[in-house]
Amino acid sequence: MADVAVAGGGVGGMAAALRLAAAGHDVVLFERNQALGGKLATRTLDGFTFDTGPSLLTLPEVFDDLLAVAGTSLAEVADPVRLDPICRYHWPDGSGFDHRAEAHAAHAEVDRFSTGQGAALAGYLDHGRRVWDVSRRTFFAGPMESPVDLVRRMRSPGDLWAIDPLRTLDARARSHFDDPRLVQWAGRYATYSGSSPYAAPATLACIPWIEQSSGAWYLRGGLARLAQILTTVLDGAGVEVRTGVEVDAIRADTTSVRGVRLAGGETVDAEVVVANVDATHLYADLLPDRRALRRVLRAPVSSSGFALLAAVEGRTEGLAHHNIAFSGDEAGEFAAIFDHGQAPDDPTLYVCASVVTDPTQAPEGCENWNVLVNVPPASAVDWDAEAEPYRDHLLEVLAGHGWDLAGRLRWVETITPADIAERYRSWQGAIYGTSSNGRRAAFLRPANRGPRRGLYLVGGSSHPGGGLPLVAMSGAIVAAMVAADRGRHRPD
Ligand SMILES: Cc1cc2nc3c(=O)[nH]c(=O)nc-3n(C[C@H](O)[C@H](O)[C@H](O)COP(=O)(O)OP(=O)(O)OC[C@H]3O[C@@H](n4cnc5c(N)ncnc54)[C@H](O)[C@@H]3O)c2cc1C
Repeated sequence: MADVAVAGGGVGGMAAALRLAAAGHDVVLFERNQALGGKLATRTLDGFTFDTGPSLLTLPEVFDDLLAVAGTSLAEVADPVRLDPICRYHWPDGSGFDHRAEAHAAHAEVDRFSTGQGAALAGYLDHGRRVWDVSRRTFFAGPMESPVDLVRRMRSPGDLWAIDPLRTLDARARSHFDDPRLVQWAGRYATYSGSSPYAAPATLACIPWIEQSSGAWYLRGGLARLAQILTTVLDGAGVEVRTGVEVDAIRADTTSVRGVRLAGGETVDAEVVVANVDATHLYADLLPDRRALRRVLRAPVSSSGFALLAAVEGRTEGLAHHNIAFSGDEAGEFAAIFDHGQAPDDPTLYVCASVVTDPTQAPEGCENWNVLVNVPPASAVDWDAEAEPYRDHLLEVLAGHGWDLAGRLRWVETITPADIAERYRSWQGAIYGTSSNGRRAAFLRPANRGPRRGLYLVGGSSHPGGGLPLVAMSGAIVAAMVAADRGRHRPD
């Protein structure tokens, strides 16, 4: 008998487990894969290492806050590097700019790129600061079971306007920038939550401010080091971790959870079950609930990703750690992904080459290119048939941007949405769980409290959404809810 059973060892599950163990609970965590971390994973072959999931860490203070529970910090257990530039941006016409880590340098660089737009960037970032100041103490500060929760945490009606939920990110960007390339740059941040700039609320304008103010970070050895660090910390906190173990069902009566059943039939009693699995998997398979499932399926699913892991010989002039080569047809790209269910012909390419910062990530004189493009969720495309042709197409698109890898490729692997779905049981291979597309998206996202007493949801498909810091925040929200609920139900 455990106090708490956690189903799934992604970052959200690990964060909840750590906080609950630190609060004195007996916690057991089940993960079907052999290692913890979920999408925060790595691939190493022939001396090349790739982060196959997250490659960019934002809001490191969220992880400092989590690690403080175990008496440590990111700087103590990892080797975090603040990147400068944050990212190198390229357009098909050959223009580009470096998003510099220091704000004044960023403004000056954007002014060089497009005269007069440095001030526009400063204004846009300042707007993002106001959005973040309000959203962190309202939207992110606790559970979100209805819009009332949001309103209750607001200090004045001005807070609602400050988070700018009614217009789209694209419309907000257009009101700041005259240069369409900078509108495209600002819209790109919608993809940080698997969304489209034409549908996601302007609230997402806080993301570039977050990057600018608290940095874009890398952990030496690869971002997946964070999963190893959390695994060690869980062990130190006394969490019983069982990997290679699939949760087959969540046991419950009509009112409360009773524990979990594992594949193979073993049952484990627990008063609290924290589900870090995708909410569709939870309500379709583990605790079948048609009403809850229907609700989950109403939430817009995030985009997925198609990745090339390319082992490249030689060094590339001008390659940064993070690089973006923009599509020449932004509207067509997002329409393909979100309206037509097609992998875009002219995608924006994200190229991460962590070897630029960390020579351990590739053999001497070589580069680890992780090329990621946004594509629709898995069911829209037959990836068994399309993976190879799309890989070849992307290599041509790269060549078109001046990155011709022909003759330099030692090997290339692909990761498709179907792979992401299969590896992490993520619905349709969604990268971020649910997207932010549409004004109601934040409220359609499954709540952290499940439909039976003692059931809680953490991770990308529940509030507050996907991305490393957000899923860690969901762990904190759930740990606080468990503490509050237990206080309320404790017999005196
Ligand atoms: C290609 C890619 C790039 C990304 N880039 C970034 C980035 O740069 N920065 C960033 O912040 N975020 C990024 N993300 C998003 C980030 O990885 C996720 O939001 C976050 O890691 C999800 O954490 P989670 O807690 O939701 O759990 P998940 O990672 O979804 O893990 C859930 C776990 O539950 C396990 N599980 C499922 N079903 C069962 C079951 N029945 N029994 C037992 N275990 C089960 C799965 O095996 C998995 O380990 C990226 C994701 C991908 C895929």
